[in-house]
Amino acid sequence: MNQVIHLKNRPKGKPELEDFEFVEEKKPQAADGEMLLKTKYVSVDPYLRGRMRDEESYIPPFQLNEPLESGIIAEVVESKNPNFEKGDFVNGMLDWKEYQTATGNGLNKVDPDKASLSAYLGILGLTGLTAYISLEHIGKLQEGETLLVSGASGAVGSTVGQIGKIKGCRVVGIAGTDEKIKLMKEKFGFDHGINYKTIDDMNQAVAKACPDGVDVYFDNVGGEILDAAMQNINKDGRVINCGAISLYNMTETPKGPRYEGIMVKKTVRMQGFLVRDHVREFGPATQQLAQWLSADKLTYEETIVEGFKNIPQAFLDLFEGKNKGKMVVKV
Ligand code: NDP
Repeated sequence: MNQVIHLKNRPKGKPELEDFEFVEEKKPQAADGEMLLKTKYVSVDPYLRGRMRDEESYIPPFQLNEPLESGIIAEVVESKNPNFEKGDFVNGMLDWKEYQTATGNGLNKVDPDKASLSAYLGILGLTGLTAYISLEHIGKLQEGETLLVSGASGAVGSTVGQIGKIKGCRVVGIAGTDEKIKLMKEKFGFDHGINYKTIDDMNQAVAKACPDGVDVYFDNVGGEILDAAMQNINKDGRVINCGAISLYNMTETPKGPRYEGIMVKKTVRMQGFLVRDHVREFGPATQQLAQWLSADKLTYEETIVEGFKNIPQAFLDLFEGKNKGKMVVKV
C-alpha cells in the first residue's frame, strides 16, 4: 500500500497535526510514457501555509481531502519514458505520497554526485534562487552598504547574508535564539546578530547594530521587525518583501505603524518578490550559486527530519523556529 498525506481541514490560525490526514491507497503503476517515482526528500516551506487558505493567490489553494504537494526529490524506480532511466533522481513539485507516477513534465534530473540530493531543495533549489535573484533585482547591493536580514538563520536568510558578505557589505541578521545568532556569525560570517525574542526595543536594537543605518532590508518575516527596519532605513534604501511568516497564521488583518512618510522622505524602494516570476534566470543563477559553493564562498545548513510520517510535524515546526537552515524531510 502507498501512504498519502491529505489536507483535512483548512487551518484557523496556527496549523495543527489534525489538519492533515494519512490515507492509504494502492501503489500506482506506470503507464506507457510514465515512470514510477519513490519520494526521497520532501521540502517543507512556510509559503505552503498560504495554499491551505481557500483564497485566490499566485498559486492555487490546496483542495480538501486531496494530497498536498511541495518540492520533492524522487528516485525513478521504474521507467516507461525514454527520457528517464531507473535509478535517475528528479526534482519538481510532487504530491506528498511515498510512490507516485509522473510523465516527467516539470521535473528536472539532479546529479547526486555533484551535490547532496537535499541541497537541490535548498541552496541549489528555490531557496538559493530566491536569495540570489531577489538581491540582484531589488537589493542591488553596493560594497560597504549595510544589509539587514530577518529570518537570518533560516534557509533563504542564511543564503542572503552570505551573498551580502560576498558583495562586501556589513551584514546584520535577526533570528529567534542565541544559538542561531552564534550560527549566523560563526558559520555564515554575519557581522552581527539580534535575537528578536530577547530584546525589548527592536528599533533601538537595529539602530545599535546598524550605526550607519540600513541600506537594504531583506524581509522574511514582516510585522514588527519590518517596522523596526523602516525606522532605521537610509536614504535610497531598498526593502525586499520576500516573506512575512509572522503574519501567515493571523486570522485578522494586522494593523501597524504607517511609513509612507519615511518612504517619501528617504526615497525608499520597497518591492515584493516571487521567485516563480524569474524562471528564465534559474539556469545562470544556479550556476553562480554552485560556483560559490565549490569555491567555499557559500555554505549551508539543513535540518533533516526522518520519516514520511513526520512531514506535517516538520512543516508545523517552521512556525516554532525549530529549523536551522533548510527544513527537509528524508523519507
Ligand atoms: P526558514 O528556513 O526561514 O524557516 C522559517 C523561520 O521563520 C523559522 O525557522 C523561524 O526562525 C522564523 N519564524 C517563524 N515564525 C516567526 C515569527 N512569528 N516571527 C519571526 N520569525 C519567525 O524558511 P524559508 O527560508 O524557506 O523562507 C523564509 C521566508 O521566505 C518565508 O517567509 C517564505 O514564505 C519566504 N519565501 C518567499 C519566496 C518568494 O518567492 N517570495 C520563496 C521562498 C521563501 P526564528 O527562530 O528566527 O524565529
